[in-house]
Amino acid sequence: MDRARTETLVRELLVELGEDPEREGLRSTPSRVAASLEFLVRGQSQDLAEVVNGAIFEQDTNDMVVVRDIELYSLCEHHLLPFFGRCHIGYLAKGKVLGASKLARIVDLFARRLQIQERLTNQIARAVMEAIGAQGVGVVVEARHLCMMMRGVEKRTSLLTTSSVLGSMHDSLPTRAEFLTLISKKHPT
Ligand code: ZN
Repeated sequence: MDRARTETLVRELLVELGEDPEREGLRSTPSRVAASLEFLVRGQSQDLAEVVNGAIFEQDTNDMVVVRDIELYSLCEHHLLPFFGRCHIGYLAKGKVLGASKLARIVDLFARRLQIQERLTNQIARAVMEAIGAQGVGVVVEARHLCMMMRGVEKRTSLLTTSSVLGSMHDSLPTRAEFLTLISKKHPT
């Protein structure tokens, strides 16, 4: 991303919005917006190997591993407005497991770019599958979209849920049911 050019474009955008980019409060806005956008799409310039960075552990297991409530923030590609919520990931290991924090890094890898929730969900599932060659992977994303909440239909409370299931998580109903049960359990209080 060309930071200087992005700043120029943001300044022009401010003018089109009827603003004076030279007024006190806006003077640093182009540079702040450029820096912020660079951060919010940086997943675009990273790849899976870099993010996983060798944190794959051999383990003689074919158990199910589930990590719930991974925070997720992304930008919708239709309006460039945020959508945010939670991601739950489960996989059936096949001799390899991932460091738990790496699942969150994989979520960010795909969330930090312009997205639609459906594609994001599928990309996370495929990446986990690719990283550890699991028997099966399931991903559920629950998110609220500011483009729906602030404008348009103004459905402020609607939650969009998407899921992607691969391998045995797709083929075996009991396995999928076990995953869905695990992610729907209430937090211990
Ligand atoms: Zn949108």
